[in-house]
Amino acid sequence: MQEIIRRLLAELGENPAREGLIDTPKRVEKALKFLTSGYTADIDAVLNNALFTVDYNEMVIVKDIDFYSLCEHHLLPFFGRCHIAYIPQGRVIGLSKIPRIVEIFARRLQIQERMTSEIGETIKRAINPLGVAVVLEATHLCMAMRGVEKQNSFAITSAMLGVFQHDARTRMEFLELIRRPELTSRASWPATPHASSV
Ligand SMILES: [Zn+2]
Repeated sequence: MQEIIRRLLAELGENPAREGLIDTPKRVEKALKFLTSGYTADIDAVLNNALFTVDYNEMVIVKDIDFYSLCEHHLLPFFGRCHIAYIPQGRVIGLSKIPRIVEIFARRLQIQERMTSEIGETIKRAINPLGVAVVLEATHLCMAMRGVEKQNSFAITSAMLGVFQHDARTRMEFLELIRRPELTSRASWPATPHASSV
């Protein structure tokens, strides 16, 4: 990979041998491997010891999960927050595992829509709840940095499964609970540490 990155630097008109760039191929390789480590993560191993049988059937919400991903069209970051809710029927997921699920799907080349539904489907498969809801709000640098369609660089996607899909009241309750006044007007994004950073 390092040789390809060296060639890329030269293609861009740079001198890969100059001091500041000499170790760049090594760093880029390391960074890219980390940012795409979701491909080799084992989701079943993550969830294995974290599924519990409970007598609880109210909505579980984990909101404001920070995530960073790479858009598969431009290999540029998109990042933001993820909000997840589900209504269990007999089984729950350990709360700390929910940001881990987000991370596994974020650390791949992604499009926001697919990432949203993959998270929802994974939770559905793991615990067969009455419903799952996933909302992702993200800023896309491929839009923001290239100076086109800047106003659309903030995107919101959602996946509503089960009761969240066919019961408007349940869906509204979730959306109400995650709503924040700055949701649609947030221009800059506060760099808070990742909820599940290790
Ligand atoms: Zn893009």
